[in-house]
Amino acid sequence: MSEPRALVIGAGLAGCEAAWQLLRRGIPVTLRDMKPGKKSPAHVSDGFAELVCSNSLRSDRLQNAAGLLKEEMRRLDSLIMRAADRARVPAGGALAVDRELFSGYITEELLGHPGLRFEEGEATELPGANAVIATGPLTSDALSGAIAALPGMKDLHFYDAAAPIVLKDSIDMDKAFLASRYGRGEDDYINCPMDEETYRAFYRALIAAETAPVHGFEESKVFEGCMPVESMARRGEMALAFGPLKPVGLVDPRTGKRPFAVLQLRRDDASDSLYNLVGFQTRLKFPEQKRVFGMIPGLEHAEFARYGVMHRNTFLNAPELLGPDFMVKGSEGLYFAGQITGVEGYIESAASGLCAGVQLALRLRGKAPAAFPGSTAIGSLCRYVSTFNRNYQPMHVSFGLIDPIQEKVRRKEERCLRVSELALAGIEALKPQLA
Ligand SMILES: Cc1cc2nc3c(=O)[nH]c(=O)nc-3n(C[C@H](O)[C@H](O)[C@H](O)COP(=O)(O)OP(=O)(O)OC[C@H]3O[C@@H](n4cnc5c(N)ncnc54)[C@H](O)[C@@H]3O)c2cc1C
Repeated sequence: MSEPRALVIGAGLAGCEAAWQLLRRGIPVTLRDMKPGKKSPAHVSDGFAELVCSNSLRSDRLQNAAGLLKEEMRRLDSLIMRAADRARVPAGGALAVDRELFSGYITEELLGHPGLRFEEGEATELPGANAVIATGPLTSDALSGAIAALPGMKDLHFYDAAAPIVLKDSIDMDKAFLASRYGRGEDDYINCPMDEETYRAFYRALIAAETAPVHGFEESKVFEGCMPVESMARRGEMALAFGPLKPVGLVDPRTGKRPFAVLQLRRDDASDSLYNLVGFQTRLKFPEQKRVFGMIPGLEHAEFARYGVMHRNTFLNAPELLGPDFMVKGSEGLYFAGQITGVEGYIESAASGLCAGVQLALRLRGKAPAAFPGSTAIGSLCRYVSTFNRNYQPMHVSFGLIDPIQEKVRRKEERCLRVSELALAGIEALKPQLA
């Protein structure tokens, strides 16, 4: 009898992690992606696991649910986490990576694995069984059509925006300063301070600036967690000063004072030449980005390595379609993983790939699905995608999704740490079942 082979469609974060979890359990994998021959409007590189916008995988602290999720994945030998830890660039309490090194490591590990076969080509139909579909928020139109025809499916499209990246040596460091908020980490961020007058002038220019037309775009269809900076500004003159431009935890060394507002730029590559404008995802027209963002002290002559863009975000009505193991209910081993399931963000997408890969491997080994407990970050995502929800929306991991602890702990940080301790114990206890 020939060995069962799994099919993984999509070599993004979720698909790579799913393939890896199958391979490390001895299941041979065919990994298929339409890249490099055909690319979505946001993908530019030929490698696997491309980070299409920010290079940040968010917090790396256990007091934060994104930090907990990453630690759970490390404990389960995640390929994405191995790559991230190797490609890390300084970013305060966050885990940010050099995207080329990150993608390069994953591509080499997978292509070098004797159990993996890579096939280039667009999938246009749904596979029948023993497959993971991880084609992301920009799933090609033909496959989107096939997915939309699944029973109980509503074809949902939302819109997200991506932030621009500028060249470091084009930032005026006579005006900007290096620091991390609250002094966490080294001086990892470039900070552009604004006084009140500059802030208000910038605000007026921003809300009046011309945006690029996006077919089918409506303001109400923007995902809250990825709101374009100009849309957020329209909520009120101080919205940015309390949002992405908040100055708390930062002191301008030239004045010895906290500025009125601060734009932070985070390092985007290991060679320290690219910086992204944190929280400045936008759909302004490119010349408007140069003009309006150039009003920020330090960015007057900034050269843009990449402008911000608006993009479609396709996701399933997962609670109708999927079980907590990410398998299509009633199917013969057809799984979805990644952002297309309605988990939101790089690390959540990779975590769902981990889960789908593990579950398909268990199935192919004739074992029952494993139940990730709701006290873990991974388990909380499994529960989120599979629990009835009238208004199902893309969702980041958060302590709000994870089971609360019974004991009373007054301080929030300590409470979060306690939740993390229990979650990691839950993962350790589950490991023998996942082997
Ligand atoms: C422009 C943009 C900016 C974003 N910014 C951020 C951010 O800053 N931070 C964050 O956490 N998340 C961001 N996201 C969300 C991000 O896409 C996800 O977090 C993550 O990349 C999703 O991983 P994935 O594996 O599900 O999909 P992807 O990483 O998109 O991978 C999907 C893969 O499937 C392939 N594919 C698609 N259709 C087919 C087909 N029919 N046949 C074969 N292959 C196919 C694609 O080529 C791609 O390689 C952004 C998304 C976009 C589009």
